[in-house]
Amino acid sequence: MSVLIFIDSAEGHVKKASLEVLTYGAKVAEQLGVAAEGVILGTVTEDLAALGKYGVKKIHHVANAALDHLDAQVYTRVIAQVAEATGATVIIFSNNVDGKAIAPRLSVRLKAGLVSGAIGLPDTSNGGFTVKKNVFSGKAFANISVKTNIKIIALNPNAYKTETREGTAEVVSFNATVDPGKVKVTKVTKASGEVPLTEAEIVVSAGRGLKGPENWGMVEDLAKALHAALACSRPVADAHWRPHNEHVGQTGIAIAPNLYIAIGISGAIQHLAGVNRSKVIVVINKDPEAPFFKAADYGIVGDAFEIVPKLTAAVKKMKGIT
Ligand SMILES: Cc1cc2nc3c(=O)[nH]c(=O)nc-3n(C[C@H](O)[C@H](O)[C@H](O)COP(=O)(O)OP(=O)(O)OC[C@H]3O[C@@H](n4cnc5c(N)ncnc54)[C@H](O)[C@@H]3O)c2cc1C
Repeated sequence: MSVLIFIDSAEGHVKKASLEVLTYGAKVAEQLGVAAEGVILGTVTEDLAALGKYGVKKIHHVANAALDHLDAQVYTRVIAQVAEATGATVIIFSNNVDGKAIAPRLSVRLKAGLVSGAIGLPDTSNGGFTVKKNVFSGKAFANISVKTNIKIIALNPNAYKTETREGTAEVVSFNATVDPGKVKVTKVTKASGEVPLTEAEIVVSAGRGLKGPENWGMVEDLAKALHAALACSRPVADAHWRPHNEHVGQTGIAIAPNLYIAIGISGAIQHLAGVNRSKVIVVINKDPEAPFFKAADYGIVGDAFEIVPKLTAAVKKMKGIT
């Protein structure tokens, strides 16, 4: 019996979300009195043994270059082999783009109950296994009791704090059967922007209050000063003021940075659904009645065209940027 944690990586590097699931998975393993093991697929350039500091004891590395790009069907079949070989009873993913693609498929393959969007450790008292998750775009919680022998949890990014301890992991090579898959990646075009949105600690986002694409320079300046990623509301992307890969919300990307700065965004429920897991939300809006202020930790009522340049100047001064 073991807890198996999927270590998500890109271009050979372990993603930040993986460190959260490693910490979380190690805690689940401790609760159940079993070992925490990891699985990572494809070419990796990082020192995997060092991931032991997040509590994982053993890492199974399927170092096959055919797995360098995500193909959810192929990944599912490989992870299923590792799960079967390790006798995993709990399998943990980040509920990020990759986790959302793999976990449901693995759930069907292994006939395992799945809780996606988990936000806390399972309650294992009295022999049960109940996991708390967000529902209705974060408006309510549900406690899901999982009764299957194998259980899968997809943990929301930023829902669990990364912790380190002493220790290194044993890294073992896993010889899996990797079938060719039905999809072939022929070209990868990276989205523009200095910081990837889903990995960013800080996100600066703007909406229709900016009036037009010609005014995004001040938003970009603030993002650059803060080393933040850029995001926008849906109407902004629909109007082609900004690319669709920056659109956050119910129908866009869901993010959970440490700091989300919303400029000229009203705070519609569909927008909040994608950003309300941010640790700290700062809202800049000229309308004191804007709904976003109810979800904000800090609010500035005023004209973005006056406030944003001042904020950027203050950040630059603080950081000594000329
Ligand atoms: C099924 C469905 C799915 C949707 N999915 C999404 C989604 O994923 N993401 C998303 O964002 N939306 C989504 N929407 C749209 C959503 O309902 C809102 O219409 C949208 O979020 C509003 O965008 P906005 O806040 O930029 O614009 P607006 O609602 O027009 O708000 C602009 C804000 O800017 C403020 N403002 C104006 N001028 C200034 C100024 N000079 N300085 C400061 N503030 C100023 C205004 O007070 C206002 O609050 C969805 C809608 C539906 C029906």
